[in-house]
Amino acid sequence: MAKEPDPITLAIAASQSPRPPSPELEARERLREKHQQAIARLWTKPSACPICGTDRWNVADTVDMPLRDVAPDLAWAIANVKQAYVYVPVGCTNCGYTILFHAGTLDARFNEGYPGRTG
Ligand SMILES: [Zn+2]
Repeated sequence: MAKEPDPITLAIAASQSPRPPSPELEARERLREKHQQAIARLWTKPSACPICGTDRWNVADTVDMPLRDVAPDLAWAIANVKQAYVYVPVGCTNCGYTILFHAGTLDARFNEGYPGRTG
């Protein structure tokens, strides 16, 4: 008798199966490529991972890092949209060590073109 896969195994399999194209996924891919280009231009130091020494990095999708409300003020929380910093994670594919780049800064550098260029 075949045993049913457990829910975690099913969830992992679903996340790894090819996704149908969608405007959101295509937009994410374009943004990732843009950020990858900006990071490649800016990253002039040795690229060895400080944890494991490999240099296999992956630019991930942009994430929001929500600000934490620090005062117990329900009126503030209700009246204000949650604020967030926007970052581009770049992770070592060997050990998982991850660094964050500020997305707005990368966008600005991308739009300026190659840093250090004259004229
Ligand atoms: Zn590493």
